[in-house]
Amino acid sequence: MSYDRVREADPAVADALTAERERQKRTLAMIASENHASKAVLEAQSSELTNKYAEGYPGERYYAGCEYADVVEELAIERATELWGAEHVNVQPHSGTQANMGVYLAMLEPGDKILSLDLTHGGHLSHGHPANFAGQLFDVEQYEVDPETGYLDYEGLREQAEQFEPDVIVSGFSAYPREVDFERVQAAADAVGAYHLADIAHITGLVAAGEHESPVGVADFVTGSTHKTIRAGRGGIIMCDEEYADAIDSAVFPGGQGGPLMHNIAGKAVGFGEALEPEFSTYAAQVVANAEALGERLTEHGLSLVSGGTDTHLVLVDLRDSHPDTPGGEAEEALESVGVILNKNTVPGETRSPFNPSGIRAGTPALTTRGFDEAATRRVADIIARVIDAPDNDDVLDAASAEVDELCEEFPLYE
Ligand SMILES: *Cc1c(COP(=O)(O)O)cnc(C)c1O
Repeated sequence: MSYDRVREADPAVADALTAERERQKRTLAMIASENHASKAVLEAQSSELTNKYAEGYPGERYYAGCEYADVVEELAIERATELWGAEHVNVQPHSGTQANMGVYLAMLEPGDKILSLDLTHGGHLSHGHPANFAGQLFDVEQYEVDPETGYLDYEGLREQAEQFEPDVIVSGFSAYPREVDFERVQAAADAVGAYHLADIAHITGLVAAGEHESPVGVADFVTGSTHKTIRAGRGGIIMCDEEYADAIDSAVFPGGQGGPLMHNIAGKAVGFGEALEPEFSTYAAQVVANAEALGERLTEHGLSLVSGGTDTHLVLVDLRDSHPDTPGGEAEEALESVGVILNKNTVPGETRSPFNPSGIRAGTPALTTRGFDEAATRRVADIIARVIDAPDNDDVLDAASAEVDELCEEFPLYE
């Protein structure tokens, strides 16, 4: 895709788009929620469907002219059904947050109770943080991971549920490196008659490929983002049993959204189609293998990982033991200056603030899309460790920057 027409009409925007493409090509995207969608997905997302109003659902739209919108949405639904196996799928949520909103609006009344993981322990804003609508509309209590092990404490969760009596328990996380036992969360929900919402935003791709246990058929509701490990068009998705289908569909539209972003739904359809190809399973397995290699190598360099390692696509580094004077924000900045793009992150038992927390989070989905294997990922781990050891040493930073350039050339993006 060239930006020739944007350039003619609007050089300022064209400059930014071109610079962003270059930025992605010459840096290593290790933000665990990011990925590089295929050119086919990018093309679908920029299609003329952006012009179309298609309020309603396939076959029952409020506007004329929806025959091709119907084709695209039905393909997205069919493919999602094949990937994750749910009875009912809604592909219209504009994002993962809107997917969660759809479930809350469908099943809860204002003031009802949500039990979810604390944000600083790996939860998500849309699980009931006070700054988010979910925290403002509902009565939220939060559970935590075991401060010693970094693992979820399923027994503690169950006891807390028995005391709090929530209407919904939310599982599924943004910064949890271990496999989630959805059956045990379900048991806690069953014990108190609560719904269980499993938000697999980060691990949609791993679940589709069988690299992580699936909550479909276990939890009452499964939500996700469609642009993270699954690598499809940007947006959200809701999955549930047939009995909740109507409630979910009307909570998404007209409950919480207007016209669906049909161009993004086209990107979802194309990306889901790609994920049904056998190569996607190889990709997802490599994402996990790379995260393991990353974690092991960082550990060899003396860095501490929350929970001691990873089962997923991400590692969470707690810098307090190895680098007590280097907060996550400083590490993030030094790494950004050499072209390694990751994020500062809170860690369980956080002693600093969310704005400059004690950890960093690093994921392998985007690097793996570029073709990184374990050996290349270990080279990135070496760069990260060297930069964190000497964030102010220009010689170290220059050498790291040169090595990032080499890796970007060795594993090109969007050729
Ligand atoms: C990323 C994420 C979401 C949704 O994020 P959006 O930016 O709204 O798509 C929801 N829940 C979790 C656990 C996430 O990690």
